[in-house]
Amino acid sequence: MREHLPFTLEDALRWKETYPTPFYVYDEESIRACVNEVYDAFSWNEGFKEYFAVKATPTPGILRLLKSLGCGADCASIPELMMAERSGITGSDIMFSSNETLISEYQAANKLGAIINLDDITQIEQMEKACGIPDTVCCRLNPGQFSDTNGIMGHQYDTKFGMKPDQLMEAYADLREKGVKHFGLHAMLSSCSLNQRYYPNLARELFTMVLRIHKILGIDIEFVDFSGGIGIPYRPEEKPIDMKKIGKDVRKVYDEILTANGLKVRIYTEMGRYITGPYGYLLTTAIGKKHIYKEYIGVDASACNLMRPAMYEAYHNIRVLGKEDLEEELTADVVGSLCENNDKFAINRGLPEIDLGDILVIEDAGAHGHSMGYNYNGKLRSAELLMHRDHSVTCIRRAQTPADYFGTLDVDPEFAAASESCILK
Ligand SMILES: *Cc1c(COP(=O)(O)O)cnc(C)c1O
Repeated sequence: MREHLPFTLEDALRWKETYPTPFYVYDEESIRACVNEVYDAFSWNEGFKEYFAVKATPTPGILRLLKSLGCGADCASIPELMMAERSGITGSDIMFSSNETLISEYQAANKLGAIINLDDITQIEQMEKACGIPDTVCCRLNPGQFSDTNGIMGHQYDTKFGMKPDQLMEAYADLREKGVKHFGLHAMLSSCSLNQRYYPNLARELFTMVLRIHKILGIDIEFVDFSGGIGIPYRPEEKPIDMKKIGKDVRKVYDEILTANGLKVRIYTEMGRYITGPYGYLLTTAIGKKHIYKEYIGVDASACNLMRPAMYEAYHNIRVLGKEDLEEELTADVVGSLCENNDKFAINRGLPEIDLGDILVIEDAGAHGHSMGYNYNGKLRSAELLMHRDHSVTCIRRAQTPADYFGTLDVDPEFAAASESCILK
């Protein structure tokens, strides 16, 4: 959560005249500032690039903004590749990091000139059959144990991603033999990490591997991809990480392991959450107040609009517009309308007294928020708005309509013929 909301009740009421709640708002200026901060922190590294993880916020209005700031895109499916391409991100500005990859996906990625990031040694053969051997290939490491000089950080024995170090070596040797000219190394060993040492430790792991590959195989890795995994402070007591310091600490490890051995690599990241997470908000209106064994505030959004609390019991701060400074006099569950008891945005949350019609802001919803939406109970997915510096908004995705929801039923002629519903007339 951020110290202050970047908009007011008046702004929200104005937006609501055109776009009924629930809707998402993204704060353009803050996303811009965040990306610039990341590029600043790594400006010492020639060729540094952030490949935004498209799955976090797959909306062209966001991707075009990120492209204008120098970002590429990290994709894992054909529709994500299409979205990147149509947002103007093409060629090697696309990283294709998939696992359990389809022939058609290799072909699509290769056609776009995307960098293919192989998750497993058996993918070499599959890729070759599907699209031949590209000039540039990246491989994903699973080091088993993840440690730094201070000891073990965690282990990856039960994660499905990446290759074991010995398989990785074999993969690079094989790829070279097949004609690959440029190599990358990738690993994602954490998610939502607020540990300042995560990237520096990951850098140590990966740069050490780069050195090993250089010494054993004589292959010089050209780029090292830290992927995503940097967290954001969802809870009031959590502190944001210091990106500038992370950049400096990674540089120390870089100089110690790579520069000292006459090696250099471009550093890539694939952050999603860190880039847009804190700068997206779900706005929803209070439509019910219920007192049974405890207090409930009902809202017009549901887990279909933001699944994280229901799925992971994730904490999202909630503020009531116009009542930001009032005492928390109420303890309530904030709930959506699904026929599922886990459809709760907050449980036993301290809130100011709420009146029907109040607008609640569910914070830190800018990544893995709208994108994880679904249509259970026939609930429709919400619109996404981009807020500009002057607090005007552009609609970058309209809300779903029943016609969108019924779109795939065009195979059923009887249904299609009866689709003139009386309900909305
Ligand atoms: C999900 C994912 C990311 C982005 O993760 P965040 O936690 O949003 O930073 C980056 N790279 C890969 C390969 C991923 O699967």
